[in-house]
Amino acid sequence: MSVIELRGIKREYRMEGRKGEETVVVRALRGIDLTAEAGEFVSVMGPSGSGKSTLMNILGCLDKPSDGTYTLDGIETSKSDANTFAYIRNQKIGFVFQSFNLLARTTALENVELPLFYYRRKKNDKRMSAQARKELAISALKNVGLESRMNHYPSQLSGGQQQRVAIARAMVNDPAFILADEPTGNLDTGMSLEIMGLFQELNEQGKTIVMVTHEPELASYTKRIVTLRDGALVSDTLVNNRRNALQDLEQWNSEHEQISENFYTGKVPIRHLHDESGNPAESAAHTEAVI
Ligand code: ADP
Ligand code: MG
Repeated sequence: MSVIELRGIKREYRMEGRKGEETVVVRALRGIDLTAEAGEFVSVMGPSGSGKSTLMNILGCLDKPSDGTYTLDGIETSKSDANTFAYIRNQKIGFVFQSFNLLARTTALENVELPLFYYRRKKNDKRMSAQARKELAISALKNVGLESRMNHYPSQLSGGQQQRVAIARAMVNDPAFILADEPTGNLDTGMSLEIMGLFQELNEQGKTIVMVTHEPELASYTKRIVTLRDGALVSDTLVNNRRNALQDLEQWNSEHEQISENFYTGKVPIRHLHDESGNPAESAAHTEAVI
């Protein structure tokens, strides 16, 4: 059984004209057929305005198509009522956004526990106990390598760590697939590679991932690339010679170090660029100030 099955998906936006003007219909999706099996890692690409966000909203059960069917993990979503639709969204999909979307006054652990407050294994099941929630959240944080940071608040974590928390939160319900929207859009190169490495690792563990991105480099870490243009799916290709993000991260780190060594010509030992806790100085401006 496919995890995702889209058949003839259309989405039109009707824009009511002002008095005397005609109604304009924007055909954002013009009949999309797309199937994804468990264990796939798919990127969705396409120029601005091609329909990526519209497709993402439909895949994420945030919006319903004007026409066509969407079967998610065997459930035909378009016929479901509002409650069932919300239930499917909560149980079946793990969201990862560009802006992390963590609650600021809430620890990493509590952020990851959040989806479990609404979680029921079956539709009429009892809610989960506090202990069970905590255990699941800790194991999700372990899985993203952040167990030691579980009591930190988002502001006490780097961007890459915040995104790891968001990924743990996306996975804690054991969803049918993870839906990521430009997940590295707010991260520098090193952290982006780290996050792509984590996605590759999770995918190796069997997680199904769909990622929207406009960066071909990021897509080269996934297994399959589908491309939209003007609301239609214009190509669907498997990635040959897939790149390994953690290897690229290592390479990037070593090049990066070399650049700073050359730049500082050995006059200032590199360790002076790090604060006492061993963290790299925060920004270029900060680094300058330290020197
Ligand atoms: P992308 O994410 O690839 O940039 P979108 O899915 O946001 O593309 O948009 C696809 C098309 O639908 C564009 O022409 C856009 O202007 C239009 N569109 C998107 N959302 C709306 C909306 N809420 N109302 C009217 N038109 C919309
Ligand atoms: Mg968009």
